[in-house]
Amino acid sequence: MNPSDVEAAVCRSVSASIIGTAFAMRAPLRTYKLDPIIPNWRLISQTEGEKSPAIGIKSLPDLQAGLTLTPPSIPITFKCAPNPFAEGSECIVYHGYDLTSKRAIALKRYKRVGAQFNSPACYMYKIKVRAICTTYATLFNDKTKPPGSARLEVTPVDVVSCPGQDHYLLETFLDGKVEKYSNNAGVVCSESPHSELLQSFSHFTWVVSRKSLVICDLQGIESGSYCVTLIDPAINSLSAGFYGQTDLGRKGIERFFETHQCGTVCRAMGLSGQLL
Ligand SMILES: [Zn+2]
Repeated sequence: MNPSDVEAAVCRSVSASIIGTAFAMRAPLRTYKLDPIIPNWRLISQTEGEKSPAIGIKSLPDLQAGLTLTPPSIPITFKCAPNPFAEGSECIVYHGYDLTSKRAIALKRYKRVGAQFNSPACYMYKIKVRAICTTYATLFNDKTKPPGSARLEVTPVDVVSCPGQDHYLLETFLDGKVEKYSNNAGVVCSESPHSELLQSFSHFTWVVSRKSLVICDLQGIESGSYCVTLIDPAINSLSAGFYGQTDLGRKGIERFFETHQCGTVCRAMGLSGQLL
């Protein structure tokens, strides 16, 4: 391993998400082996399931009124690779193919096993987190920022439930290098020119939410200088665990502000000084 590889490995390890709740750390892990190869889909049998309806983009008042989620009810036929190709702190990720929509997909399952990790509710909350993040990204895009600031998008997520009571998170498969900008504990780790914008986005969510949450754990795929598509952002709220296993609560918010330094984007948006 050469020095730059060592640095990259350290960077990856410190910037991984942190699982917050004690029960999450105690639950046993699935057995799996990562395999980066996309399988020959002709050799993979198809699975029938039901998918959650698209939730669409919500306004801030919609979020404040509370989101009502509809359980999976739309038929879907798909194929899932036998082994995952990637893993995060919470989930393992499989290549998949959606035969209904004819598109490559990413299917995610929780790494931990046990009833609390395979309930529809455990998967459905991810839709809520993603809807909140999408709303804040939309508001952020509409604000005046320094010229050349990229637009933020958030990958939508659906929940798929199968007859054997297996559940998956379903996302469109995005091919590209994933850039990690921050984790959920204040660690910033990116030399991307978009890094400052992403840290400002986290600060923006604190201000616009009236100091009730910080969207963090930011990673995404960059499309040139124009757009960053965020994958699986997390929320730190005032109550640890409220937005799932990666919600570190007030401690996570404090850690964000311990490391965050307002730059030109925060100043242009009037965020400077609006701290804890
Ligand atoms: Zn700031």
